[in-house]
Amino acid sequence: MNFKTFNFHPLVAAGIAAAGYENPTPIQAGVIPHIMRGCDLMGLAQTGTGKTAAFVLPILQRLAAGDRGSIRSLIIAPTRELAEQIHQAIEILGRPAGVRCVAIYGGVGIHPQIQKLKRADIVVACPGRLLDHIRRHSIELTQLETLVLDEADHMLDMGFIPDVRQIFKHLPVNRQTLVFSATMPHEIRQLAKTFLNDPVTIKIGVTSPADTVSHAFYPVAHHLKTALLLNLLENSNAESVLVFTRTKHRAKSLGKKLMTAGYQAASLQGNLSQSRRQASLDGFRDGKFKILVATDIAARGIDVTRISHVINYDIPSTPDTYIHRIGRTGRAARSGEAYTFITGEDKKMVNAISRAIGSNIEQRILPTFNYGGTSHNVAYRSRQDKKLHQKKTEERKRHNRRTSMTRSFV
Ligand code: AMP
Repeated sequence: MNFKTFNFHPLVAAGIAAAGYENPTPIQAGVIPHIMRGCDLMGLAQTGTGKTAAFVLPILQRLAAGDRGSIRSLIIAPTRELAEQIHQAIEILGRPAGVRCVAIYGGVGIHPQIQKLKRADIVVACPGRLLDHIRRHSIELTQLETLVLDEADHMLDMGFIPDVRQIFKHLPVNRQTLVFSATMPHEIRQLAKTFLNDPVTIKIGVTSPADTVSHAFYPVAHHLKTALLLNLLENSNAESVLVFTRTKHRAKSLGKKLMTAGYQAASLQGNLSQSRRQASLDGFRDGKFKILVATDIAARGIDVTRISHVINYDIPSTPDTYIHRIGRTGRAARSGEAYTFITGEDKKMVNAISRAIGSNIEQRILPTFNYGGTSHNVAYRSRQDKKLHQKKTEERKRHNRRTSMTRSFV
């Protein structure tokens, strides 16, 4: 199948060409015809499948034809990063058609948003700030034709469903509603029942990890995880590393420890201000930071293509989350490594992940690491190893001072 099948308006086709897309992805091929027919739809697909363009292109098709200058499409996303990412995709795809898009989320000033909302065709919003605008009457939604809820299951995880239900009360009843979600928990099924009108459901199977990724488990005692991470980083040729921790606090403190060890590292977690989150993300994307330490929620939907290693400092809580995390490496035929630190308590999840991957994952022991150590400082097998480590740390720090790239973004 190719994009010509959909008979897009020439200005929409120009946007597709500008983005460099040649053929539709499976989710696009599956949902675009239904959305263009005006149906309500439930799309089950993960990030990385091309789901953003799957709903953006039919929205642009509608806008290319009708009047402009009022909000005709609203996209609700759970995180600021995802909202910003959708906004950027619309900027590229919608530029030839001249559509005006604004992203609205908390953590930044509300007044510039109020001005932009007056002229927008498409709004991408996080639920909290959108409700703020609705309550202040600074958003006019009477002309709304299409509503998209993106990553609905993550909205549920983040406790946004009551806000979403509130928002629905302020929208015209006569509209097309599209819901995208990677999974279908009971609450999302209920939401769809209430707010979707005879929806079509399209499911794109959980993407299995790319063949280009190799997986390994690293058994380690909890208190030695940081030392093991430093050892691994020192002894690998990792170019761009995404490290996952379970908690915000751990993401922050690990980011700091990596910087102290001389790495160009940043963290991405919910406690950061919007500008710092963006700086961490941009710095990681353009290679200024070699390591990004993130929580699942902060990293949700982030699309950085050049990741050589994903390291699960803490094992993910479901096999789906594992697949989602490591889906960020080994993209586009590059090879990638997925390392997961495991402790004695993780046995059940280790088995569940192996089953999901469909093979036994190798358990690796590092010969250069002192597994009997009691803390970070004694986790070297010999004095020589420790000296070598200190020398490398100094070298990294000198290099960073020369390039003055180690900045405090954690
Ligand atoms: P998404 O799942 O929407 O986050 O998209 C994942 C990545 O796929 C993004 O970098 C998109 O730019 C890219 N993408 C979306 N549709 C296509 C397509 N038809 N061909 C090639 N890349 C695409």
